[in-house]
This record gives sequence, C-alpha cells and structure tokens, in this order.
Amino acid sequence: MSAFAPFGLLLLLALLLIGWLVGQPFWLSRRRRQLRAQPFPVAWRRILQKRVPCVRALPADLQLQLKQHIQVFLAEKAFIGCDGLAITDEMRVTIAAQACLLILNRPAHYYPGLRQILVYPDSFVVQRDHTDESGVAHQGHQVLSGESWSQGQVILSWRDTLAGAAVPDDGQNVTIHEFAHQLDQETGAANGAPLLARRAHYARWTQVLKTEFDALQARTAQGQPSLLSDYGATDPAEFFAVASEVFFEQPRRMAAEHPALYQELAQFYRLDPLSW
Ligand SMILES: [Zn+2]
Repeated sequence: MSAFAPFGLLLLLALLLIGWLVGQPFWLSRRRRQLRAQPFPVAWRRILQKRVPCVRALPADLQLQLKQHIQVFLAEKAFIGCDGLAITDEMRVTIAAQACLLILNRPAHYYPGLRQILVYPDSFVVQRDHTDESGVAHQGHQVLSGESWSQGQVILSWRDTLAGAAVPDDGQNVTIHEFAHQLDQETGAANGAPLLARRAHYARWTQVLKTEFDALQARTAQGQPSLLSDYGATDPAEFFAVASEVFFEQPRRMAAEHPALYQELAQFYRLDPLSW
C-alpha cells in the first residue's frame, strides 16, 4: 500500500463532504419544488374543509401556499401515535395545516429542527419535578394538551388539536401554541425571542414584548381579565406562544387592544390577518 493511500482516502472523503454540503441544499430545494408542484389530494382538501375552518378565510394565494407547505411538511416530518393511537391522514393534514400557518411567506422554512410529531388521543400526563421557593423539591405530574421540545419533537393531544381548530376565533389553539414554541426554540431554549429577519428588529421586539408581558403579569396578579390568557403571564416564552394564538385567531381585537404587539407579530410572521 502506498504511503499516499491514506492521504488519497482523506482527500476523497473531503471531496465527498464538500460535494454533499454544496449539493444537499440544491437537492432539498429541488425535491421541495417537486412536492409543491404535485396536485393537492382531494381527500386532503376535504379534511381541511371539515377540520380546519380557518383555511377558508385565507386569501386565495395564501391558501395555495398553505397547501404547498402541507405537502412538503408531510413528506418531511414523521408522525408517531402514542398510547395506541393509529395515525390517520386526518390527523396529519389537520396538524400540518395549522403548523404551516406559522410559516407562510417563509419559502425555505419548514421547522428545520423538528423531526417528529407525537400525537396522544387525549391530554397526557408528564412527570414534572420542581423545586419551590423555599428550596423543597417536589415530585409531581402535569396534565398537558401539548408540548414542544427543543430536541425536535412536538407533542399534541388529538382531542385538543381538533377542539383548537374547530373554533378558529376564540384565541385558543394548541397547535399554533406549540409550533410558536418551535420557532422560538430555533435560537436555543424558548425565551420569547425567536429568530427575527433583521438584527435591527430585536430592540423594538424586546421593548414591545416586555412591556406587554409586564402588563399581562400585572393584570393577572390583580385578577383582571385580558385578551391574552393568564397562562401567557407564566414567562416570556409562554407569552409569545399565547400571543401567537391570539394573533392568528383574534387579529381584530389584538390590533385594537394591543396595536404595538400586533405590529411586531405581523412583522415576525410576515402576515396581516387583519386583511383576511
Ligand atoms: Zn407553552
């Protein structure tokens, strides 16, 4: 064996790696173009009509874009049934449609960190240990309708997913909530500061969201009702997820009662639901 053989092998591996790095985005965008160009299945259209009424309210160009996004999303993300639930197209399309609302007008963004959607038939119980203010550790459990993990998973209760989609204007939607967390988690842990289009946007985003979050905390502490649910007062990450639900489902009220927050979310989501 020649002394140059290991070097040749290394060179070959380096070339393969460079080829993959250069070619991968090209093949990915080509595959996505092909998926988007496929006709949207009639059965899937019926599922949208039956289960996701908010789609009907979208302008025609966004409806088309949403259907194209659903095709890519369903080709790339794995769905896993939990507690014996058998995943159906109805579940896949209903979840994908709501998840893809949040990525409209983002041509190459399909939740890059997300790999799997785990679906439970109903709300599910998770083990949560916490330490209280006096330093005492407690073991406990929480009943959840959804959860978003930064390791690439979203967990949803099918029953709550259906309920969230069925009433598109009550400001409560677990799918929008959990996928907003996914966007937030692209920058690491969820903290209410997702990746913004421009560095210059962060200062105003931080100022507006902090002011609104502080106001919600104050109202919640005084027991005053608010357009945003009390759960948004938990921390800045929950505030962003709760505000996202209201932005998509009650844009008129949000624009009237929280105009600065509406404007920040409209810029972030690149959408103006007021015009739908
Ligand atoms: Zn949350």
